[in-house]
Amino acid sequence: MHNGRLIDKANGYGIIACETCGFIHTDPVPAPEELESVYRDEYYKDEKPLYIERTIEDLRWWETVYDDRYEFLENESGRGSILDVGSGPGYFLKRGLERGWKVMGIEPSKQAAAHARTLGVEVENAFLDEKLASSINRRFDAVHLSEVLEHVPDPAGILKLAHSLLEDGGIVCCVAPNDFSPVQKTLSERLNFSHYWLAPPHHINYFNHATLSALLERCGFSVIGSSSMFPIDFFLLMGDNYVGNDEVGRASHLRRKRLDIMLNEPGLKEFKKEMYGIMAKHGIGREAVIFGKKEKR
Ligand SMILES: [Zn+2]
Repeated sequence: MHNGRLIDKANGYGIIACETCGFIHTDPVPAPEELESVYRDEYYKDEKPLYIERTIEDLRWWETVYDDRYEFLENESGRGSILDVGSGPGYFLKRGLERGWKVMGIEPSKQAAAHARTLGVEVENAFLDEKLASSINRRFDAVHLSEVLEHVPDPAGILKLAHSLLEDGGIVCCVAPNDFSPVQKTLSERLNFSHYWLAPPHHINYFNHATLSALLERCGFSVIGSSSMFPIDFFLLMGDNYVGNDEVGRASHLRRKRLDIMLNEPGLKEFKKEMYGIMAKHGIGREAVIFGKKEKR
C-alpha cells in the first residue's frame, strides 16, 4: 500500500514521498498496460524523436561515460557477459563488444531495437517481465539498467528479475535521474524554480543516490560503488536557464560534453573519477550511478 506525504502535483498525478517504497513516486502509479504501447511504439518516434540522432552526435562523449562504467565492472570482476535492460539504440552494448564483452539487450521500442541490431548487437524486442526472464537460459556477469527504473511501475520487481539473471557475484549498474537533490532544492527554495524535473507518467519514480542505494539493498544487492553524471543543473545556479529552452539546454550540454571529454585526458582522469565519487557522496549530479553486487550464497 503506497502511503506518504504529498509533495506536489503534475500532469494530473500526485507526487508522494512513499514510506512503503522508500522513494518518491506518482500517486497513483500508472498500470503497466497504460505504458506498454507508449514504450513499444511511440517513445522513440513521438516522445524522443531526436534521441537516436543526438546519441550519434554525442557519441564521443557517451563513449567516455560508458567507458567509466565498463572500467568499474572490469576492475571488479573482469570482462564477461552483460545484459542491458532498456538498451535503446544499442551504443552502450556496441561499446561493450569493442571492449571484449559478450552482450545482450532487452528493449521494448521497435525502432530502437532495430537500430541496435544494425550495430551487430543481439536484442530482444520486449519488456523485461517474469515470462521473458524465465525464457533466458543464461546468467550474466553484469546487468546495466540506465534510465529505466524511473519509468517502471514496479522498480523493485525489475531489480529482482535483474538479480535472478545475474551470476552469484555479478554486478548491477543502475543509472537514474537524481531528483529533489540539494541543487534542485536550492533552485526551488532560493531561486523560485518549479519542480521542473517532474514528468509523469513517463517518470513515475524520483530517486536520489540514497534511495536508489537503499532499493538495491532491499532487492538483494550490496552497494559497492556510487558515482554521478555531470550536475548539468549547475548551469541553472550559474544563471543559464535551460528549463523549457532547448537551445540553452543544448548549449549547456555541449559545454559539459567538452568538459567531460577533456577530464578524460591523462593527468585529469583520476581526478574526474574521484570528483564524481565525491559528488555522489553529497547527492550532487544530474544522474545517480549505483553499482550493486549480488552476494555469493
Ligand atoms: Zn510506494
